[in-house]
Amino acid sequence: MSASTQPLQLDAALLYLTAFSAAFLTALWLSLVFWAYRDIRSRAQDRLLHILAAAIVLLLGPAGLVIYLILRPRRTLDEVYQNTLEEEALLTEIEESPTCPGCGARSQHDWQICPQCHTRLRKPCISCGSLMDLHWKICPYCAIPAPGMHTVNENSTPDLPAG
Ligand SMILES: [Zn+2]
Ligand SMILES: [Zn+2]
Repeated sequence: MSASTQPLQLDAALLYLTAFSAAFLTALWLSLVFWAYRDIRSRAQDRLLHILAAAIVLLLGPAGLVIYLILRPRRTLDEVYQNTLEEEALLTEIEESPTCPGCGARSQHDWQICPQCHTRLRKPCISCGSLMDLHWKICPYCAIPAPGMHTVNENSTPDLPAG
C-alpha cells in the first residue's frame, strides 16, 4: 500500500506550499498597506487621505501602491516645515537688511555709500577706520569724536515744500 501513500504525501506537501505562499503573499500585501499608511501619514494630516491611501493599496495591492506613489503628495510634512522655516529666515534677512534713505535700494551694514544714488550711508572713523552712522558724534569703538559734525548737518536737512 505504499503506492497510495505517496500521492497523499505529495498532496500534503503541495497544500503546505500553497498555504505557505498564501500566507507570505498576505503578509506582503498587508505590509504594503502598512507602508502606504505610514508614508501618507508623513505627508498629509487629513485622516480621510490616510484611510483612502491604505484602502487603495488594500484593494488593489501592488497596483494600488503604484497608483498611490503617483498621486501621493510630493513633499513630506517635515520637508514642508523645513521649507517654511527657510522661507521665514529669508524674509527676516530681507527685512533686517537696511535700505538706502536716498533711493530705497537695499544696502549693507558695512557700506559707506549707496552704489545706486551715491547717498552717504556711513562714515569711517578718522582714528580707527570703523564705520559709523552719519549722525554719530563719537566713535563707539575708540571714543574719538567725529570731526566736523556741526558743519555737516547744519543745512543738509531738506525743507518740506510749503503747501
Ligand atoms: Zn541710494
Ligand atoms: Zn574709531
